[in-house]
Amino acid sequence: MSNVAVIAVGGNSLILDEKHKTIPDQYAATVETAKHVAGMIEKGWNVVLTHGNGPQVGFILRRSELSLHELHPVPLDYCGADTQGAIGYMFQRALHNELHKRGIDKQAATIVTQVLVDKNDPAFQNPSKPIGSFMNAEQAARKRAEEGWQMVEDAGRGWRRVVPSPLPKAIVERDAIHELIHAGFVVICSGGGGIPVYENEQGELVGLEAVIDKDFAGSLLARSIDADLFLVSTAVEQVALNYNKPNQQWLDHMTLAEAKKYLAEGHFHKGSMGPKIQAAIWFLDASDATGSAHHEEWMHHDTSHKRKALITNPENLERALNGETGTRITKD
Ligand code: ADP
Ligand code: MG
Repeated sequence: MSNVAVIAVGGNSLILDEKHKTIPDQYAATVETAKHVAGMIEKGWNVVLTHGNGPQVGFILRRSELSLHELHPVPLDYCGADTQGAIGYMFQRALHNELHKRGIDKQAATIVTQVLVDKNDPAFQNPSKPIGSFMNAEQAARKRAEEGWQMVEDAGRGWRRVVPSPLPKAIVERDAIHELIHAGFVVICSGGGGIPVYENEQGELVGLEAVIDKDFAGSLLARSIDADLFLVSTAVEQVALNYNKPNQQWLDHMTLAEAKKYLAEGHFHKGSMGPKIQAAIWFLDASDATGSAHHEEWMHHDTSHKRKALITNPENLERALNGETGTRITKD
């Protein structure tokens, strides 16, 4: 199958800004993104959509925290499942309505997605991803003692729980996603980077209190289903060198080698653009297995030459696909 696109949509596709956080606000933002995705579908793309969930998980954790005197807390892997379902519902409905308007007879379906990680990933020795609310030193000490949480001081703002962010190794529901996309469905999956699970000695899956980078998981997803396009939809129209500096330079195109070089030179911030560029590099570089699970189907024939990565914002998706804007990354 050709024309398979994995679109990784960032937080801004769901929450535009601090003042627009309610569920109706999030739905309205989803509708905007769905219009552009529907535009791609209309042009013949087979779309697999993945999305972030950071703020939504934060809201669940906060609700859980405020109601602890009355209700059981929600473990992190269940927060992931809850948000995949709720955000999946938003995209399913928004896409249904948008496709209906355009007279396109296509259905969107969400798959609650588990993503396998390695229990020996060094990230488990060094939890780095802050989650949940800020606490004072005393509250932090109590959580450390009672729940075994790892806590860090965040630049004077207080204490916060940190969890490991291991690399994704395999998409557990990969075959279901592959079947659905080949049967003509629009698939929403691997939300929030997927629910991190590991395989114990009995071969059972066990959920983890960890989070997976959604751009890394999106890249693995794109490789696993042999997508042609890995499209990162974020808050900027293009990627820049010397971002936010006087000598800033917007990029229309990077080769794989250039992307690696610029990344090493520190042009892409670690917590934002860096993972997107790394994700694009892993997608294009089939010879580099770092952070990927070599699925048999694509292990035996290197299809990475037909692949293209593209980074832009939701409103420019269609223009970027026409080569009018965005930053394109190709093998050569
Ligand atoms: P998302 O929610 O989509 O993952 P992030 O905030 O994590 O979004 O990453 C996108 C952000 O990365 C942009 O809004 C921009 O502020 C920032 N950024 C960092 N370095 C660069 C760069 N070199 N070029 C463009 N944007 C950059
Ligand atoms: Mg991000």
